[in-house]
Amino acid sequence: MSPRSGGTRREWERHADVVIVGAGIAGLTAALRAHARGLKVIVVRKASHGDTATALAQGGVAVVDGSVPSDSVPQHFGDTVAAGGGLVDGHAATVILTEGAEAIWRLRARGAHFDEGPDGLLRTREGGHSERRIIHAGGDATGAEIQRALEHASRRLTVLDHHNVVAIGVAAGEVTGVSVVDTTGARGLIHAPAVVLATGGIGQLYSVTTNPGAATADGIALALRAGATVTDVEFIQFHPTMLYSPTGSGTRPLISEAVRGEGGRLVDIDGRAITDGDPRGDLAPRDVVARAIASRMREIGAAHVYLDARRIDRFAQRFPTIAMLCAREGIDPQSDLIPVAPGAHYHCGGVMTDVNGASSIPGLYAVGEAARTGLHGANRLASNSLLEAVVVGERVGEAVVSRVSRGPRSRTEAEWSEPAGPVLPRVVLQRMMSQHAGVVRDETGLSSAASTLANAAAAQGIYEDQNLHLTASAIVAAARWRRETRGSHTRLDFPYTDPECARSIPISLRDGTISLDSLEVAARV
Ligand SMILES: Cc1cc2nc3c(=O)[nH]c(=O)nc-3n(C[C@H](O)[C@H](O)[C@H](O)COP(=O)(O)OP(=O)(O)OC[C@H]3O[C@@H](n4cnc5c(N)ncnc54)[C@H](O)[C@@H]3O)c2cc1C
Repeated sequence: MSPRSGGTRREWERHADVVIVGAGIAGLTAALRAHARGLKVIVVRKASHGDTATALAQGGVAVVDGSVPSDSVPQHFGDTVAAGGGLVDGHAATVILTEGAEAIWRLRARGAHFDEGPDGLLRTREGGHSERRIIHAGGDATGAEIQRALEHASRRLTVLDHHNVVAIGVAAGEVTGVSVVDTTGARGLIHAPAVVLATGGIGQLYSVTTNPGAATADGIALALRAGATVTDVEFIQFHPTMLYSPTGSGTRPLISEAVRGEGGRLVDIDGRAITDGDPRGDLAPRDVVARAIASRMREIGAAHVYLDARRIDRFAQRFPTIAMLCAREGIDPQSDLIPVAPGAHYHCGGVMTDVNGASSIPGLYAVGEAARTGLHGANRLASNSLLEAVVVGERVGEAVVSRVSRGPRSRTEAEWSEPAGPVLPRVVLQRMMSQHAGVVRDETGLSSAASTLANAAAAQGIYEDQNLHLTASAIVAAARWRRETRGSHTRLDFPYTDPECARSIPISLRDGTISLDSLEVAARV
């Protein structure tokens, strides 16, 4: 069939009970659960194997499963809330942390092998955690093992590789499916009463990031255009320790916090400690460490600081991936200082959902880094993201079963139209966001970014850049509204936390313009 809709020619159509957009830990977990419950599932991903943040995750998964007598879910909850800057949703955190052990059990049953010792799973400790509760795989290759296991478990599912979801269909207020473009430009429609956005993060908004090339904020932009609400988008975690290179930019290797957990120390070129003002030292939460590094870099005019890991015994055995990444740049962590700088790492905000992944639009779900359940608040606790993705992934899989089993939806056809909107050249956008909406922000920089975004020329057909642009506009608007410093959002001109701002700001798209959904907010911006 070649129907025309909204002026765009469709070359094929398919039908499913649920379309899962993205094939990292979140998407594949949801897909496997829905498939096991008898639904017709189609998974769509932009790349083929591997272009996921999941495959890159190093440190591990934070989970309390009763094996460490001194640890408990309330303690994990306390650490999560302490990191979250006053914006953690208590209900979401309780559900996700409590169900973690069962979800990890399911992940292992699907074939993921975590590192074990004579007394069971090995556990490490990371910044902000009061206990050693991070399970890991292959030393520091946790995500690669999870991705491998889930890919293998999904081998009988229908997975469309190299297909980019470019729009979500909505008719009579409900989801009707997705519009897809493949690498040859061929277009298709997949009709389904449920769509799950599991599209990962937004790192490609910044010049230096740990995220893969696919992390172009598609989920947030697709959801906004479909009429859904997003929130907490101003809270972006910058990983304090990316491997710095004077020539490298874009996706850069990450030096896991676990290196600091095992005794690595942050120092400047003169050997001075970076976090000596904080009793938690180099294991303070990420925002604290990233700010300390950014401040020291500004103070001494350096482009990076150093991680001294020379005292860690058998570094290459404990951290084989990091040792290999360093070796590629001619660095031996056993004898050399590792140059490091902060880079965009994790988006705490996203499509606003409940703990079942349900968004504000019936039939539209989001899960994983694309979603915002409220677990992370203003600042994610290390290794809580894989946990959230796997717990909520299972829940979304169940939630779509009940939606589909409620029977046929409205027969109204969605209006499909080609997304259009302003676009800046990618490198210009990345530089601007890094400079004005990065680790530290102020009104002068943010207002300049807002006007550059607003004055960019419109374009069609460069989907990822349109998505980045729209998401950047939402981030800049929210960061301007938040005239305070909280969690991973640091305003140099408002260095204190303001109790009046202790809430999440819902954002939607109205008449093509980003709107902060509160009369009071609209008046202030
Ligand atoms: C280097 C690194 C280390 C990390 N370490 C840890 C850690 O130790 N512990 C922890 O808890 N977290 C860690 N994180 C964070 C964690 O890995 C991610 O938050 C998590 O893996 C996100 O999973 P996801 O399934 O939501 O997205 P991803 O795994 O990123 O998958 C996204 C998928 O969406 C697809 N996609 C995107 N847009 C579209 C579109 N328009 N159409 C079709 N497909 C699309 C992509 O192709 C991909 O398949 C780390 C992240 C990085 C980058």
